[in-house]
Amino acid sequence: MPGQTHRVTVIPGDGVGPEVVRSAQRIIAAAGVAIDWEIAEAGAEVFKRGDTSGVPQATRDSIARTHVVLKGPLETPVGFGEKSANVTLRKLFETYANVRPAHELPGVPTRYAGEGVDMIIVRENVEDLYAGIEHMQTPDVAQCLKVISRKGSEKIIRYAFELARREGRRKVTCATKANIMKLTEGLFKRVFEELSAEYPEIVAEHLIIDNVAHQMAKNPAQFDVVVTTNLNGDIISDLASGLVGGLGFAPSGNYGDDVAIFEAVHGSAPKYAGKDVINPTALVLSSLMMLRHLHESDVADRIEDAVLVTLEEGKAVTQDLARQTGGDVERAASTTGFTDAIIANLGRQPSTVPPRSGSERPSGKATPRPHWSYGAAVSAAVPRTTVGVDLFLETWEPADAAGAILERLAGDVLRLEMISSRGTMVYPATGLAPDSVGLLRARFVAREDGAAVSDAEITSLVSRVGERFAWTHIEKLHVFAGEPGYTKAQGQ
Ligand code: NAP
Repeated sequence: MPGQTHRVTVIPGDGVGPEVVRSAQRIIAAAGVAIDWEIAEAGAEVFKRGDTSGVPQATRDSIARTHVVLKGPLETPVGFGEKSANVTLRKLFETYANVRPAHELPGVPTRYAGEGVDMIIVRENVEDLYAGIEHMQTPDVAQCLKVISRKGSEKIIRYAFELARREGRRKVTCATKANIMKLTEGLFKRVFEELSAEYPEIVAEHLIIDNVAHQMAKNPAQFDVVVTTNLNGDIISDLASGLVGGLGFAPSGNYGDDVAIFEAVHGSAPKYAGKDVINPTALVLSSLMMLRHLHESDVADRIEDAVLVTLEEGKAVTQDLARQTGGDVERAASTTGFTDAIIANLGRQPSTVPPRSGSERPSGKATPRPHWSYGAAVSAAVPRTTVGVDLFLETWEPADAAGAILERLAGDVLRLEMISSRGTMVYPATGLAPDSVGLLRARFVAREDGAAVSDAEITSLVSRVGERFAWTHIEKLHVFAGEPGYTKAQGQ
C-alpha cells in the first residue's frame, strides 16, 4: 500500500552494481518512500566462497520473505560454478515474465529521436534454450534442449495481453521462429492465436522474429507490446535498448506470481567499478518499475519526471552520454553528481515529454485467470499413440552401410523408416551427401502403418541395436489427438 514501509531485498551485486543500486536507494529515500532494505548477497564473491549456485540460502530466505528484489548485476566468474546466478534467481522464484520497456528519452540522442519509439518487450524468462539442458552426444556433438510448454507459453502470453489491456496499449506482436521450429516456437504461436480471441480490443499480430529485427531497425515506432520466447526476447530486447540510447538507459523487471526482481539490463561493467562514473539511469528506471509494483505509482511518476527533467536539461550528463553527444567527457557528471541532480529535480515537470498517467507506465503483475488450458486432467484427456522411436547413434559409418545393418536389426514389428544426419535425411539415399559429424538418427516405425508400438518393443529394439552401435539417446514418436508430435527430416 502507498505510504507504508515496504520490505525489499536489495542485492548490490558485482562491479558497478553497488554504485547504481546506491543511486536508486538515495533517490527513493529523497522522494519519501519508506523501504526497509534487507541487504543480501549473490554473484562473484559467493561463487568464490565455494557456493556453486551463486545464490546463498540466506538470500533465498530473504526473497521468500519480502517477495520483491532490487538487484545490481551479477558476475559468474570463469572457473567458479557453471550456471549464471541471474538465471538461477529468475528460475528459483519462477519469475516467468521479463518486461523491458524501451521508450525515447529526452536529451538522449538516437537515430530514431522524434519518431515516438515506445515499446515493451515481454520475454518468456524460464523456458526455451535457457532451460540449460545440454548434453554432449558424442565427444564432438553438443545438444541443447529447447523446452517450450503450453503452460509456460500461456502464462507469458496472457501476461502480455493483460499488461497491454491495463496500460491501454493497442497492439501485441508475437515474435517467433514458428516457420522453422514448428513444434516449439509453433506451440507458442498457436497459444498466442488462441488467447488473442479473449482480447478483441487489442490488435494481435504474429511476425517471424528475423522480420521483427528488420522492422525494429527500419521503423521501431510501429511496435507496442512484443511477446516472445526466451532467446528471441534476449536478443530483440537488447536491440530495442539500443534504439533508445543503449544499456545505460535500459530497465527491466522479472515478474512471477509471488516474486518480482528489478534490475538494469546491463552487466557489472567491471572496468568502471568503483570509479563513480557509471550511468545509473537504467537501475533508477528499474527501481521505478519496482515502486509501481509496490503501488507507489505517484512517487514513481515524480521520480520519473525528475529523471526526464535531468536528461532534458543536460546540465548533469554522465560520461557515456557525453561520449554519445560529443560532449566534454572530462567534465561529465559522476554517478553521485547525476544522482544529486535527479534528487534536486524532484517535484519538477519535464517540458518536452507529454504527461502520461501512471496506468500507462509499465508495472505490476497480471491477474491470474481461473481457467487454464493445461494441467494433469487436460493432458490425460488427450488421446495418444506411440507410433515409433528415434534412436540416436554415435557412428561415423556411411549412412547406407549403417542403414543396411539397421534394416536387419529392426525386427518383425518395426521397420527402419529413415536415417538423418543433423536433421537431413541421408537414408534411403537422396543423391545428396551432407557432411557427417559422427551422429546419426535412425527412425523406426511400426511395419503396420500407424500401428501402436509398445515400450517392450522399443526396449527390445534398443538392446538389439545397442549390441552393434553406441546409442546416445532415444525419443519416442507420439501422435497426440491425431497430430504427429514429431517433425519429418529435411528432405523426407
Ligand atoms: P556490461 O557489464 O553490460 O558492459 C558492457 C559495456 O556496456 C560497458 O563496457 C559499457 O560500454 C556499457 N555499459 C554497461 N552498463 C552501462 C551503464 N550503466 N552506463 C553506461 N554504459 C554502460 O557487459 P559485459 O562486459 O559483457 O559483462 C560484464 C559482466 O556482467 C559479466 O560477468 C556478465 O556475465 C555480467 N552480466 C550480468 C548481467 C545481470 O546481472 N543481469 C547482465 C549482463 C551481464 P563502454 O565500454 O562502451 O563504455
